[in-house]
Amino acid sequence: MVKAIVGANWGDEGKGKITDMLAQDSDIVIRFQGGANAGHTIINDYGKFALHTLPSGVFNDNTTSIIGNGVALNIPVLFNEMKEIEAQGVPAPKLLVSDRAQIVMPYHVLFDQYEEERLGGKSFGSTKSGIAPFYSDKYAKIGFQVSELFDEEYLKEKIANVCEQKNILLEHLYHKPKIDEEELFQTLMEYRDMVAPYVCDVSLYLHNAIKEGKDILLEGQLGSLKDPDHGIYPMVTSSSTLAAYGAIGAGIPPYEIKQVITVVKAYSSAVGAGAFVSEIFGEEADELRRRGGDGGEFGATTGRPRRMGWFDIPASKYGCRMQGTTDVAFTVLDVLGYLDEIPVCVGYEIDGEVTTEFPTTRTLEKAKPVLEVLPGWKCDIRGITNYDDLPENCKNYIEFVEERLGYPITLISNGPGRNEIIYRGFKK
Ligand code: GDP
Repeated sequence: MVKAIVGANWGDEGKGKITDMLAQDSDIVIRFQGGANAGHTIINDYGKFALHTLPSGVFNDNTTSIIGNGVALNIPVLFNEMKEIEAQGVPAPKLLVSDRAQIVMPYHVLFDQYEEERLGGKSFGSTKSGIAPFYSDKYAKIGFQVSELFDEEYLKEKIANVCEQKNILLEHLYHKPKIDEEELFQTLMEYRDMVAPYVCDVSLYLHNAIKEGKDILLEGQLGSLKDPDHGIYPMVTSSSTLAAYGAIGAGIPPYEIKQVITVVKAYSSAVGAGAFVSEIFGEEADELRRRGGDGGEFGATTGRPRRMGWFDIPASKYGCRMQGTTDVAFTVLDVLGYLDEIPVCVGYEIDGEVTTEFPTTRTLEKAKPVLEVLPGWKCDIRGITNYDDLPENCKNYIEFVEERLGYPITLISNGPGRNEIIYRGFKK
């Protein structure tokens, strides 16, 4: 059976932890979109890890980890990550890389930096990992597929064609050094040697795995609100963050995705620019940031302090709807235990009218939060494993959110560790 684990919000919902946890019962975990621009933080018996490219199933001996065709594959980053986890005692993962995945080229990373510099204050807050230039090239049909690394003559010709265009931009738009074709070819040969043992016809592999009844997890990155079509465009990422795209980015039929586990965080956090209606500031935000996640809300890839806010019902309800949620995993709930009262953004006031539906970006920029305040539970809920053992006010908070979202909360995460989870009707 195929399950997808995706985010409802702006990312950083705790998908890595949920994937690591569910990967224990999975034969295959696949990344289907995005690149090394975001990270998952995972804490398990081996230690604490920030994964950017490797699927979160790599800590399981029985799990095959796959980089799907939809991923922006940064080959040196992938291999450094493999080395790092092995250095921390994790057995070498069983890894497969799609022969149709495209490669983040060294110049994609440079173009990302140069464009941010050029835009100055008007920048999109890119992580400068080359993701936007990568996907631009993919859809402009000048990207490099892993399969192409194995045809040297073709590769040389393609490099020459691509460099012609890139070098004009480098010279005249950015005033930066041009790409050396020979050096780029040699780099790609190094990439080829690194990736060669893992290259696979992934869609065929998955076709057979599905036939054999294997348990397969699709692992999403970021969340619904960063989707280029359905998110807060243009403050979005460059590949679809929705479960539906899992079918394309892994190469499986859409009807095979039977369960969509949408990870929803018990409060809000976001990185980068863009409207963030329930955002809080000052000491109130600092305290939540300091207490949030595991050791504070700072970007796993960039270390940037995250923007903080109260739980946002319109955004999360929309986020769950766009994912096609079957199960909500409600995470980092333990963090809210210090609050006397917990404000929740239950609607948006836009031009004098209150709505619970999430609008397009230009309208969103006008939205003001409508807050409702719930009583806090004022204790540490870590260590609790039964739903009924949670404090009454904590259950009220969960049930309030569940009712407003309209999707069942079947998993509750009350700590960063793999086993810190409360099952509430979740079907494995
Ligand atoms: P992802 O990209 O969605 O995987 O999210 P991140 O890894 O960036 O952020 C989640 C952070 O919260 C990480 O530091 C996790 O270790 C931590 N985390 C996940 N679930 C919980 C939880 O239930 N409680 C606490 N306190 N931290 C959690």
